[in-house]
Amino acid sequence: MIQEILPNIYIIVVPLPHNPLKALNTYLIVGADEFLLVDSGFNRKESKEALFTALESLKVDPDKTRVIITHLHADHSGLAEVLYKKGARLLMEPGEAQRIKSLSEEENWENMKGDLKTFGLEVDQNFFDDHPGKIYAPKGNFTYQPLKEGENIAIGEYSFEVILVPGHTPGMINLFDRKKGIYFSADHVLDSITPNIGFWGYDQEKMLEKYLNSLQKVQAYPIKIMLPSHRGVIMKPKERIEELQEHHKNRLEEVERIVTKKGTAVNVRDVAREMDWRIRARSWEDFPSPQKSFAAGEAMSHLEYLRDHGRITSYWEDNIIYFVKIPR
Ligand SMILES: [Zn+2]
Repeated sequence: MIQEILPNIYIIVVPLPHNPLKALNTYLIVGADEFLLVDSGFNRKESKEALFTALESLKVDPDKTRVIITHLHADHSGLAEVLYKKGARLLMEPGEAQRIKSLSEEENWENMKGDLKTFGLEVDQNFFDDHPGKIYAPKGNFTYQPLKEGENIAIGEYSFEVILVPGHTPGMINLFDRKKGIYFSADHVLDSITPNIGFWGYDQEKMLEKYLNSLQKVQAYPIKIMLPSHRGVIMKPKERIEELQEHHKNRLEEVERIVTKKGTAVNVRDVAREMDWRIRARSWEDFPSPQKSFAAGEAMSHLEYLRDHGRITSYWEDNIIYFVKIPR
């Protein structure tokens, strides 16, 4: 599906088959004999066909196209290398670019398995075999132009400022035309679904803290229309940001309740299996392993936040991290 939602700004809906996100909104901005594409789609047949059919029908010349990849996730980055091979120039935040490359490195997945084991999860050899980040990542090599916070990207009648919004990933970027009030929010602010805030390793803690700070940062901007990477356009960004802040406040209370209720120390898995998830599975044991890892990451980011704010405490035993309520 293609729609011109603002003058010379097209939304191209790219399907993400068998994924709960359903589809990715890529955005094409058309200038005078040049193009700017924001994000790409999974590196799989259905996404690729939809994207390239749309680009052809809009007469987009890859040689005259810059492609901004907002963050590492394969639904955004998957077709980056295909676009690059066709002649497009890639623009990415350097840390995210590094993480995109590591999606195809076994060591990255082994490290993630190691982290999940510290959560008390049972992780077998094939745990990540169905993970979309592993299957639909860009294959092969590419070069890119590094993007920095505050940098300006001009195209046609638009001028976009690069905004760094760590939280959903450590180096995700958004784009903001301040004069026109147009904001590309990637997976930072979404309508009707809440962005996953996970765990990025013990050297990258405080992701929920970072995410909430990034929400506050964006809340202060004069935004008229927000264009997210999934689901619908957001016409009331301030209200939606408030809802997301409220969501995490409730989530933190839920996690704190679970830790308190148990009365004894709990690990991340114990907490994740008791949390409320909007997923069609009968029980925690029936969660597909990618969903288990997302859920455990989400539990961990909230546990960390509670600990860092003195509401619970943590300790290590036999290479597993445990959380416990601080006695009054
Ligand atoms: Zn994402």
